[in-house]
Amino acid sequence: MDTARDVIIIGSGPAGLTAAVYTARANLKPLVIEGLLAGGQLMMTTTVENFPGFRDGIMGPDLMAEMRAQAERFGAEILQGDVTRIDLGVRPFRVEAEGVTYTAHALIVATGASAKLLGLPAERALMGHGVSTCATCDGFFFRGKPIAVVGGGDSALEEAIFLTRFASKVTLVHRRDAFRASKIMQDKALSNPKIEVAWTSTVETINDTSKGEVTGIVLRDVRTDAVREVAVDGVFVAIGHTPNTALVAGQLDTDENGYLVTRDGTKTNVPGVFACGDVQDHTYRQAITAAGSGCMAALDAERYLERLQ
Ligand code: NAP
Repeated sequence: MDTARDVIIIGSGPAGLTAAVYTARANLKPLVIEGLLAGGQLMMTTTVENFPGFRDGIMGPDLMAEMRAQAERFGAEILQGDVTRIDLGVRPFRVEAEGVTYTAHALIVATGASAKLLGLPAERALMGHGVSTCATCDGFFFRGKPIAVVGGGDSALEEAIFLTRFASKVTLVHRRDAFRASKIMQDKALSNPKIEVAWTSTVETINDTSKGEVTGIVLRDVRTDAVREVAVDGVFVAIGHTPNTALVAGQLDTDENGYLVTRDGTKTNVPGVFACGDVQDHTYRQAITAAGSGCMAALDAERYLERLQ
């Protein structure tokens, strides 16, 4: 595998693989370093019904396999493994992965964000089978059913309000007796008749892994230690996201929440380095918006490389 590249793409979710399709079709022979969670967050979902072009929906992992194959068809090379070091202080940039140093004149950072999880074994086991980290993606599957949302920030309240469109009832589980969310969001959530708040409560476990589906959550009231089960068909964990920026920490500008700052399309503060997808977007966080920004990053990188010649 050639180690001196025009463009290296780090990350293989919808943003990275769309950037790969576009840069490959521009004859830039991109190298995609896919990362340990190859395929990104869609690998943890089941049916995706809101990605245009799939009338009957498509499984998240199948969608990613299609994108990967499409990128390879046009000549993208995909390296399995994780990047261990990025040096943006030299030209060309240096990227270390699996013990090999690669160089690139342009770099596309598409490392995504990871939804924070509660850390319960049942949460992992039932992810995509009733447990979700994306209300926009999965709310539709819970029409007429009771569900729970965990968290007390703007995301949790926004998701809870959104989910009342589908769910028969939303139990909003928060570990404290006051929300972190903005006042306006609190007013909306608290006045919504479908939302009931389980204050000062933590989720002990999610039932029922033996059935492979969610049947309820066991809550512990942290003030009284009382334990109770609430019957729900779905659990949305909305306790925040962490953008995956450790590799470029101190090299690329981030905002107050740690997301990469992009200007004028997908440009970062280092010329030749572009960022796309959830690593620079904490607002939309959709597969289709990530793919769209991956396309933008590819076009930005292509134009940058043209000017270098
Ligand atoms: P966040 O503000 O960090 O809130 C996370 C919430 O989850 C907090 O209530 C926190 O509880 C709870 N939490 C964290 N870890 C937990 C755990 N292990 N177990 C139980 N609960 C846990 O995250 P966010 O809501 O995703 O928002 C991130 C940023 O985006 C914020 O600046 C937010 O304002 C912004 N945002 C804005 C909008 C909007 O304006 N429409 C929508 C979404 C997000 P504690 O409160 O006890 O810490």
